[in-house]
Amino acid sequence: MTDKKPFWERKKLAEMTLKEWESLCDGCGKCCLHKLEHEESREVFYTRVVCQYLDQDQCRCMVYGKRKKTVPDCVVLTPKNLEDLSWMPGTCAYRLLHENKPLPIWHPLITGNRNAIIASDNTVTGKVISEEFVHEDGFEEHLVDWAD
Ligand code: SF4
Ligand code: SF4
Repeated sequence: MTDKKPFWERKKLAEMTLKEWESLCDGCGKCCLHKLEHEESREVFYTRVVCQYLDQDQCRCMVYGKRKKTVPDCVVLTPKNLEDLSWMPGTCAYRLLHENKPLPIWHPLITGNRNAIIASDNTVTGKVISEEFVHEDGFEEHLVDWAD
């Protein structure tokens, strides 16, 4: 008998093919927001200031193939660095699966398109400002509570 469960319910993150791994990203764009970390508590706070290389309408990285070279701080997710990524948004598919939680009902892998993630207001489109227009010292003025 074949296992009818979808790959994300049947496989561990480390067992996925590159294509499966890439398809997990819902394209929310939240991981491209600048974050601030409290010096003592290490608590992470999201801002609405976003990387200049994010296409804000499509929520796609415009330098994806060379993102690490273009933005040295950009974290390229792999099965090997998930342990350290508790600061990823709570809706991020990689974090959810890593924490043994299900994908949200609006995830494109479940719905087959991006309509539901857009309708559920889970992308950054229309809510962010490019880092080109905010001085680093001013990030604190742009804290948001919808991204974590
Ligand atoms: S937060 Fe996760 S799901 Fe959203 S764009 Fe980033 S990697 Fe993809
Ligand atoms: S380089 Fe691309 S993936 Fe990295 S933070 Fe910027 S827009 Fe996001």
